[in-house]
Amino acid sequence: MIRVRGLTVRYPRAARPVLDGLDLDVAAGEQVLLVGPSGAGKSTVLRVLAGVVPQSIGAQARGEVRVAGMPVLGGGDVVGVPTLAREVGVLTQDPADQLVLPTVLDEVAFGLENRAVPRHLIGPRVERALALVGAAGLAGRRTSELSGGEGQRVALAAVLVADPSVLLLDEPTALLDPVGARQVADAVRAARHGRACVMVEHRLDEIGGLPGRIVVLDEQGRVRVDGPTDAVLAER
Ligand code: ADP
Ligand code: ADP
Repeated sequence: MIRVRGLTVRYPRAARPVLDGLDLDVAAGEQVLLVGPSGAGKSTVLRVLAGVVPQSIGAQARGEVRVAGMPVLGGGDVVGVPTLAREVGVLTQDPADQLVLPTVLDEVAFGLENRAVPRHLIGPRVERALALVGAAGLAGRRTSELSGGEGQRVALAAVLVADPSVLLLDEPTALLDPVGARQVADAVRAARHGRACVMVEHRLDEIGGLPGRIVVLDEQGRVRVDGPTDAVLAER
């Protein structure tokens, strides 16, 4: 579902590449925790998989990347973000980045309305997405009045309503207090089930239930370790 070969990325004016010859395969339904020191390039990996780097930033990138059967870098006619977004859902740290409409219902329904899904199918799909992330009770709320944890769950529901086969999560609990983090972590676990998922997360000891496979990047933007999460974390 995700295939990365020899990915090398250099930001404008940077002295050295942020990622250097990265290889990564993630099968359909497989979930990967991506860790490594600050600046190692974890977010850059997710931005490449989502199709926003190098395109919108003017970074230089080499290598080959395919996501959900679509060429994202190298190899043929590279698809743009709107095409990729049909199969790839992205959740970042800050719900404020993603919540733009007045109410929770508007927000979660938006992706389907945009895609001309028939009206009578939208309601049930919105309800299902909200229920999956434990946010069924938030349907009537104003997005501007949600707590951080609520906002993040609604943002996740807005991603899930489109039923993406690939889920990219960039520290979705980073801005939350422990209670909110726990709620979002539980929602993320339900959400990632059955999808190819790459998740960057720092609060490894707090949130529990981590993906079974861990990939550790080093400072040079190379894969240092790729293995079972339990075994790798036990060696820390
Ligand atoms: P940051 O400075 O961005 O917080 P850290 O160096 O603290 O980055 O690493 C982020 C997370 O990744 C931490 O939870 C850390 O325990 C984990 N981590 C870093 N290196 C390894 C490693 N070699 N094996 C397992 N986990 C690691
Ligand atoms: P991580 O998520 O592992 O902390 P990032 O992928 O966010 O790492 O960033 C890796 C390096 O690339 C950092 O040194 C960061 O300053 C640099 N960087 C990230 N985004 C940009 C950008 N848009 N322009 C220039 N440099 C960037």
